[in-house]
Amino acid sequence: MLLHGMTRDELADVLAGWGQPAFRAGQLFHWLQRGVGYAQMSNLPAPLRQRLADCAPQQPVQVAQALRSGLDGTVKLLYRLADEHMVEGVLMRYKHGNTLCVSTQVGCAMGCTFCASTLEGCARNLHAGEMIGQVQCANAMLAGDSPVHNVVLMGSGEPLDNYEQTVRFLRLLRDPDGLCIGLRNVSLSTCGLVPQMRRFAREGLPVTLSVSLHAPNDTIRRTLMPVARANPMETLLDACRDYIAQTGRRVIMEYALIHGVNCAPPHADELAARLRGMQCHVNLIPLNAVAERGLRGAGAAEVRAFQQRLLSRGVSVTLRREMGGDLQGACGQLRRRYMQQGDASPADPSLAKEE
Ligand code: SAH
Repeated sequence: MLLHGMTRDELADVLAGWGQPAFRAGQLFHWLQRGVGYAQMSNLPAPLRQRLADCAPQQPVQVAQALRSGLDGTVKLLYRLADEHMVEGVLMRYKHGNTLCVSTQVGCAMGCTFCASTLEGCARNLHAGEMIGQVQCANAMLAGDSPVHNVVLMGSGEPLDNYEQTVRFLRLLRDPDGLCIGLRNVSLSTCGLVPQMRRFAREGLPVTLSVSLHAPNDTIRRTLMPVARANPMETLLDACRDYIAQTGRRVIMEYALIHGVNCAPPHADELAARLRGMQCHVNLIPLNAVAERGLRGAGAAEVRAFQQRLLSRGVSVTLRREMGGDLQGACGQLRRRYMQQGDASPADPSLAKEE
């Protein structure tokens, strides 16, 4: 049983089964969402605290390793789940607030050729409580500093392939008696699962949708992303237009520049034509080379030229700043190294105090 992903009503059901009064559910929810251990739940009776401890893990997620960048204070996190699976996260320290990159699955089933998270497939979905647990771990590290302000669902996994738990997580995240993170401060990145995107547009959640486009046409996209076979680009862009219409929010197109594949001048022209008239913004990402994949990122001049060409064709575009460049960069690399070497030096619980 994972209590951290439960709503007040669900907790009330569990507690009712134990003969507890209904008001205990709100008290328990409050503590669980703050990551407080059972022994410290001061307004709950001791026998109830013991019963909770006997049936559910106190902390669904723990930090196994934290690597801090000497360049910009970015922290790469390796988390251990209660069943010993590992997932990754990144804490980025921006002036406008701390941003946490959250994982939604152990590994990923999508098979994108440039991504390390998917090399061993998807071991399992994360529960909403394990996504909440990642935010709690980051907040514990930031103790004394301001807590996580923005969340990006860009860690390992495809959030819309774990639809129910991701939506549950988002509803918990914004709860005023929970972590209280407004969904306008949340971005969800998808490789482009069209039916789920259309469903998500109707959840009434004001999340920024990022779409991993990475190509100007289906021919190139299919060589990079297996998901493109069942979800052709025109239906994907239609789903984006639908998201914009339903939510009034612009969509972000992510585009990793891969030398010799997707960033020659004609690709910029084709992309600009495709996106014409759409309320979107293109985020260019320098490719993090993954040795196993043999793909190389575009050079600085090639990146600049691609960006300029899009700009001159009226596309709103920026280049994503690289954070923590001295750490294990790309998605899934830290976990892979851990799994290959089995090393995890003790976590540093006091990163905020080092500043
Ligand atoms: N499954 C989601 C979230 C994945 S990670 C999705 O596909 O969008 C977030 C972003 O990082 C995605 O745009 C993904 O395509 C990109 N990404 C993955 N591996 C990368 C790499 N080696 N270099 C640059 N970007 C990468």
